Amino acid sequence: MPDTVFRDVEVAGRGGGVAVDVHVRDATVVAVGEVPHVPGAQVVEARGGALLPGLHDHHLHLLATAAGAASVDCGPRVRDREELAAALRSAPGAWVRGVNYHERSAGDLDRYALDALVPDRPVRIQHRSGALWMLNSRALALAEHVLDRSPDVERDAAGAPTGRLWRYDARLRPALPRTVSDLGPLGRTLLSYGVTGITDATPNLDTGALMLLGHEALPQKVLLLGAPDGVPVPSGLRAGPRKLHLRDHDLPGLGELTETVAASHRLGRPVAVHCVTAESLVLTVAALRAAGVLPGDRIEHAAVVLPGLAADLAQLDVAVVTQPGFVRERGDDYLRAVEPGELPYLYPYRSLIDAGVRVAPSSDAPHASPDPWRTIADADRVTSGGVVLGADEQVGRAAVLAGYLSPADHPGGPVRQVRPGSAADLCLLWTPLAQALAAAPANPVRLTMTGGRLHALGSPSEDTLD
Ligand SMILES: [Zn+2]
Repeated sequence: MPDTVFRDVEVAGRGGGVAVDVHVRDATVVAVGEVPHVPGAQVVEARGGALLPGLHDHHLHLLATAAGAASVDCGPRVRDREELAAALRSAPGAWVRGVNYHERSAGDLDRYALDALVPDRPVRIQHRSGALWMLNSRALALAEHVLDRSPDVERDAAGAPTGRLWRYDARLRPALPRTVSDLGPLGRTLLSYGVTGITDATPNLDTGALMLLGHEALPQKVLLLGAPDGVPVPSGLRAGPRKLHLRDHDLPGLGELTETVAASHRLGRPVAVHCVTAESLVLTVAALRAAGVLPGDRIEHAAVVLPGLAADLAQLDVAVVTQPGFVRERGDDYLRAVEPGELPYLYPYRSLIDAGVRVAPSSDAPHASPDPWRTIADADRVTSGGVVLGADEQVGRAAVLAGYLSPADHPGGPVRQVRPGSAADLCLLWTPLAQALAAAPANPVRLTMTGGRLHALGSPSEDTLD
């Protein structure tokens, strides 16, 4: 691999407007400043564009995002049963996989409701929350052997499964056709945004899922929150904190959660606790207090943070991984459906930072757009309907970018820098940084480098730049 010299780049912390050169050898930045001619090096004339460390998406679901491309979108576009039936029937393939469903479209779905729409092919639809799969009778028959006696399998009064399976991804997977999902296009899409690192937040990855993730050799560095304990992960992947997905309608007791956290800590593994209700966050804070905190412990979403809890999180030094994209994509639903008393505390950002909490943004793709420049603009908290949801919680775009530039193991921690010794996971923008931030959600990325290797991304599209 040849050396690379970026000529005339803007690098943070090098004084405004002073362009420098950056020299990359193998997978490392070796010089920043005035770089003399390097024989054999490839030279990129940056003409003042910013050179940033690659962005890290702190919470996303790789396999589900890749599969999403081959799924039926059952989101807001689908307005009633007829439209849902038409969308499902038009899907190619043996199994029909729907995503992004909310009961506002066509009511609650169980096997009978789905049989009425599509009786002759197995259908499974994921609720927008990601926590619920709804299967028709054909699909349920094929999945019969993986249904357990837990409350996650909803049953009618006679004990027959209704087709509604809660938090069942890992348990359902063995019953599904084992298609090799192609992560390549997703990897390239993320490169085009300058994303060089990903935290996969899917809980309880089984061996099959691990093999799929390992097999694909994404150009990005991948940290897994769902890696099983005591099982080596495939090369190129790394086990991160342990994802704990609490049952919101059936929360564990404080003692039980405390023991779960402590058990993970004893293995040297921090926890990443999914908290989308006020109650689950209160419970999690109490459990972390009782179990003690391990560096790397984090809260996923913190969708509702009641007064006082931000101070607790700051005191515990637990990071929050938030999703500004939800405010835009789902904000109008929140305004309709969330208890008015809770609206001021939804997906907070500014108040957490002000309280001293480390906060990092993420996409939670496929549940929101995987484009970080879209997410950076979403810090304005304007819903798709044009309403500002929680003006007090707006943060500057630079603050959101800083979260994307914080280390994989330290979300919301110190921003990674382009300096001698840093990893050559970089992205070069077409413009200086201030201009790029002002232009978000336009994608400003010109080139992305992972491990010292440059990936060509093509020229800018006319409508997003200049
Ligand atoms: Zn998620």
